[in-house]
Amino acid sequence: MKLISTRGEAPAVSLSEAIMTGLAPDGGLYLPETLPAIDPDTLDPDWPLWRIAAALFAPFFKGDVLEDALETICREAFSFPVGLDTPDPQAPNLAVLELFHGPTAAFKDFGARFLAQCLRRLKKPGDAPFTILVATSGDTGGAVAAAFDGASEARVAVLYPEGRVSKLQEHQLACWSDTVTTLSVRPDFDTCQALVKQAFNDPAFRSDFHLTSANSINIARLMAQMSYYAWAALVVARQGRAPVNVIVPTGNLGNALAAVWAKRMGLPIGRIICAVNANRTVADYFETARYEPRASVPTQANAMDVGAPSNFERLTHMAGSDDLTAFGIGADWVSDALIESAIGDAYRRTGRVWCPHTAVGLVAHARLSPDDRAAPWVVAATAHASKFPDVVEPIIGRRIDPAPPLAALLDRPKRIRPMEASLGALRAALEDQRALLG
Ligand SMILES: *Cc1c(COP(=O)(O)O)cnc(C)c1O
Repeated sequence: MKLISTRGEAPAVSLSEAIMTGLAPDGGLYLPETLPAIDPDTLDPDWPLWRIAAALFAPFFKGDVLEDALETICREAFSFPVGLDTPDPQAPNLAVLELFHGPTAAFKDFGARFLAQCLRRLKKPGDAPFTILVATSGDTGGAVAAAFDGASEARVAVLYPEGRVSKLQEHQLACWSDTVTTLSVRPDFDTCQALVKQAFNDPAFRSDFHLTSANSINIARLMAQMSYYAWAALVVARQGRAPVNVIVPTGNLGNALAAVWAKRMGLPIGRIICAVNANRTVADYFETARYEPRASVPTQANAMDVGAPSNFERLTHMAGSDDLTAFGIGADWVSDALIESAIGDAYRRTGRVWCPHTAVGLVAHARLSPDDRAAPWVVAATAHASKFPDVVEPIIGRRIDPAPPLAALLDRPKRIRPMEASLGALRAALEDQRALLG
């Protein structure tokens, strides 16, 4: 398969090349030249997720240097459970897709682990290790750090917005070995993301550090995320209720785009709603047909505090001159007050505690018309509630235990380097890391 850039000014590349480079040299994002089709009848919801993933990704890997490793890559990446539960007796058609059972308790583990398995096999003997530069609004950085920690093939530099992530998130960004450098940047996520883009757009910087990106601009992350939508769609289809509609708590649009791709590949998925918080760029776009990126504002669902979603460019490129609503894609936005009341309400009625991001999706579902709610829906539960105790505990009035993998991380010391938001400061940080690792 050939991958092309959204900006059309970079040569087409193989999948491995797109995974290694992250951002295309013209500043665009890589997309499959044409999205392959798959017959859902060739897939079985009883298969483990890695096997569904391997079947789904096979056309992407055809002819690639990683083709023969695909099955092993998927086995090693998707080695933890995914759940589909119907937690609310008052909403029998609503299933929650639990994506938080991985090592850092958020859906980012799927993409980060898949990317890590691919990249480790792409470093050639004698080449310098990759440097994975990742801007994080909270969860990506931890997932990427965990996936690459201690690997000799790659170093990781995580940039996160100081004071804008939970204590537990911060810990899981910063508790790794020397192969991971954790940099706190002010004032917000968009600043981190802009700095990462600037580094990538600087050819000298890029080659000096053998940069690659683990943000959702990296095509491997998007591909990985298609697998669980495929699985959920197959489960619902076997119940004779296809197609399933999907609600995706959305920030940079990576997870939602994966659902769109799974649908376009032929899986029985109906509508796809991007549920956003008070960072309304995407919701406003669907309402006004104008895309107006803006500075992000802090909300209770901090991993979605994105004012300029990086994957928007992919979404519109794919639609071409068509209206996105023609693909069955829509959006809804949810205030902090509603996030809080949804967490409290779900806890009182069902005993379940949801993270604030998942709550955004649940509110979007509750707002559908009764007719719409008669159809099957899946809300992606993007993180474990225990990652956000500051938000969740006051609402439910009790403490929640950290998810087991997170509890294990809390014993490790953390190291953070505060950094000015400039390319010079980033270069100095990466040079120090290189000197340290030798
Ligand atoms: C990253 C993240 C999101 C947003 O996902 P995108 O792919 O950026 O749209 C939602 N919820 C949680 C918990 C996240 O970590």
